[in-house]
Amino acid sequence: MSETTRSDVIVIGAGMAGASVADALSRDCTVVLLERESHPGYHTTGRSAALFAPVYGPAPIRALTRASAAFMANPPEGFADSPILTPRGALFIAREDQLADLTGLHNELQSEGNFKELDDSGIRKMHPLIREGYAAAGLYDENCQDIDVAALHQGFLRRARARGCSLFTRADVIALEELANGWRVRTPVGTFEAPCVINAAGAWADELGQKAGAEPIGLVPKRRTAMQIAAPAGAKIGGWPIAVDVAEEFYVKPVAQQLLLSPANENPDVPCDVQPDEMDIAICVDRVERAFDLRVGRIETRWAGLRSFVADKCPVAGFSAAVPGFFWLAGQGGYGIQTAPALAELAAALVLGKPMPPEMVIEGVELSSLAPERLSA
Ligand SMILES: Cc1cc2nc3c(=O)[nH]c(=O)nc-3n(C[C@H](O)[C@H](O)[C@H](O)COP(=O)(O)OP(=O)(O)OC[C@H]3O[C@@H](n4cnc5c(N)ncnc54)[C@H](O)[C@@H]3O)c2cc1C
Repeated sequence: MSETTRSDVIVIGAGMAGASVADALSRDCTVVLLERESHPGYHTTGRSAALFAPVYGPAPIRALTRASAAFMANPPEGFADSPILTPRGALFIAREDQLADLTGLHNELQSEGNFKELDDSGIRKMHPLIREGYAAAGLYDENCQDIDVAALHQGFLRRARARGCSLFTRADVIALEELANGWRVRTPVGTFEAPCVINAAGAWADELGQKAGAEPIGLVPKRRTAMQIAAPAGAKIGGWPIAVDVAEEFYVKPVAQQLLLSPANENPDVPCDVQPDEMDIAICVDRVERAFDLRVGRIETRWAGLRSFVADKCPVAGFSAAVPGFFWLAGQGGYGIQTAPALAELAAALVLGKPMPPEMVIEGVELSSLAPERLSA
């Protein structure tokens, strides 16, 4: 029989959520990080659009994003070899029939963003590929930045290991057994025991919760498709902002000398190694070709990822009310990269019974907006 590995905390899932909370907790206690795949980041974390957008998402997300900004902009010495954030800018564009959406966005978020209002010619100066006459108005937000997702994720994993955290890959959690004083977790690579288990299983979080006998949180994995094409010959796209349809019908983002296109779809799916759907691709090409002076020919790469949401589209961070020592860290949806530093620190504080970190209080993060109980209330 294989040996049992004991620690203070077991984190299940080594995507951005699991890696970041394992790092935060291994400062104060012994942590084991279990990942089903052969390398961490294979699922949603490795498939994002890599954007830090402070005006994106519901208010609790925006608060967590603001609370993550300082870490992202100035990571600790030795955390990463290159900057985590680089300037990008976001250009929200609206057709004539979408002007009310643009006004709504501006009214709701003008105190949080650094918006500049643009007309058709201002839009095309900033993004020359947008078809003349397509956009009636635009809003430019210079605070939006690119995230080096691999550097952030690897930084958390590296620092966690340096602090003593043990990462086990190919460690698919097949059973969770409640003990008198904690949990026994069985995987093909060994058995693990700890007083506390953190569920950072991404799209599989509700399935994992069920294995532990925890209350379901109503998580719905939603497929989002993306692809990259070569930029038009000679176009100097490096300084262009991401162009986002104000009603989120598509976005187009420069990535090195390519353009990343997405129809910004949210198709409910099941937890799986999701693949791009041909219909999503066709819809994306149609929408992008209407809005841009661009013929989409050869698609260099295409992929899809699952953005997993609960009903109010806010993350779930807190202990289960049904089973002791079982902590939810799930439902990061489309914001799990930009919120990771703050959400990990908050989750670690809750696990250790410490108060909320002060930067989160300042930014207006409220525990009640993240607590699992809100979903059954
Ligand atoms: C197209 C797209 C664009 C996006 N753009 C952005 C963006 O610009 N900015 C942003 O902030 N966010 C973005 N996101 C969202 C972001 O990628 C996610 O919120 C984030 O990656 C979620 O991280 P996670 O660790 O929760 O999930 P995952 O990365 O999926 O990690 C969960 C891990 O748990 C493991 N696991 C599951 N079950 C088990 C088990 N039983 N045993 C062991 N391991 C298990 C899985 O193998 C997986 O590795 C985007 C997502 C997509 C798909």
